[in-house]
Amino acid sequence: MTKEKEKIDIKTKVRTLFDNFLFLKHCRKTSERYAILDLVYSNKEHFDIEWLYKEMEKQSFRVSRSTIYNTMQLLVECHLAQKHQFGKSISVYEHTYGNDLHHHLICNSCKKVMEYKDPGLIQFIANNGMKRFTPTHYSLNIYGICSACSRKNKKKI
Ligand SMILES: [Zn+2]
Ligand SMILES: [Zn+2]
Repeated sequence: MTKEKEKIDIKTKVRTLFDNFLFLKHCRKTSERYAILDLVYSNKEHFDIEWLYKEMEKQSFRVSRSTIYNTMQLLVECHLAQKHQFGKSISVYEHTYGNDLHHHLICNSCKKVMEYKDPGLIQFIANNGMKRFTPTHYSLNIYGICSACSRKNKKKI
């Protein structure tokens, strides 16, 4: 399967999942909600409400930030998106379907969030044999200084 086809495939799948969820929750199926879902699945990075608001504006959708926020809550509820709060910064989101398990590296200085994939670490946690407990998901956030910020700091000295 080509990468492009795979992407279209995922978008169709998540649309169906969201469709069923809205039906079960007796929520209205608005074109805005589907446009938000589409944007969420077009973005490979972590994003905030403000990013979605600007992108929706670019597509000439007139939606309030609270509509976007509420839609994101629905997406989190039906496990199509994950919400993160890194340190004291604002909440960021990322899509979950088709997204590999990863950890996060967060820069204390510029607040940039990077994905960190370590199969060995994931394997270690999976094989750790937690007694009388079945983990469903977890998140590991590592805080520190990114290379760009540490270069900047060096220049100052
Ligand atoms: Zn940084
Ligand atoms: Zn992530």
